[in-house]
Amino acid sequence: MNKVHFVGAGPGDKELITLKGYKLLSDADVVIYAGSLVNPALLEYCKEGCEIHNSAHMDLQEIIDVMEKGIREDKSVVRLQTGDFSIYGSIREQVEDLNKLGIDYDCTPGVSSFLGAASALGVEYTVPEISQSVVITRMEGRTPVPSKESIESFAQHQTSMVIFLSVQEIEKVVERLIEGGYPETTPIAVVYKATWPEEKSVRGTLLDIAEKVKENNITKTALIMVGEFLGENYNNSKLYDKDFKHEYRF
Ligand code: SAH
Repeated sequence: MNKVHFVGAGPGDKELITLKGYKLLSDADVVIYAGSLVNPALLEYCKEGCEIHNSAHMDLQEIIDVMEKGIREDKSVVRLQTGDFSIYGSIREQVEDLNKLGIDYDCTPGVSSFLGAASALGVEYTVPEISQSVVITRMEGRTPVPSKESIESFAQHQTSMVIFLSVQEIEKVVERLIEGGYPETTPIAVVYKATWPEEKSVRGTLLDIAEKVKENNITKTALIMVGEFLGENYNNSKLYDKDFKHEYRF
């Protein structure tokens, strides 16, 4: 029996899918793609006659039904998800339903948008001695966030933070970051549609970013990146220090 293939589409640029994902996509008989965020240009890789479904118009049961029908007909089924499915990808519920049906699946990762956004700005989240951890989080919306994971609690660490799904409430995010402990002068950036042709980014501090985001009409499909990793200060890594042993280099 065929498997359902979950494939990470990457953040937008149609060349940022993996080679393995590309092969699965171009071989697929049935593709279910997340129409609200996957760049439709990726569908140009599909073969002629491939059956394409946009999951933006489907509920979970409808998605599972399409997968099940395809597999029972011995077709190759690809579920194409934005970025990587392990980050806000709703993959768990799909996998659990496939398990109940006895349908096997495999997963091919993608480049998540938080990586696309770092590339857009040419920055490193883990600058030596400035920050060595990255927090990926979101503010609650229709989907709640456990109270132990409040923005304020993560802000206490003043490390690098990437906030998904929250740009529509940038003022509130900023307020909570300051409340949690970041100084008002902390650098912050918002990247809209990283790696898409229409990509846009704004940089500022906690004091002025909300205004800049409004001026640029950014209301969705954006990431908020905050922390001193975006600032002027940096230290060289030990890794390429001339006195450091070469066998540790990678
Ligand atoms: N699985 C995806 C995230 C899905 S949640 C991933 O790995 O990237 C959807 C949210 O991701 C959006 O609201 C936005 O905050 C962010 N996002 C997705 N694609 C983006 C892009 N190209 N640029 C900036 N943010 C993006």
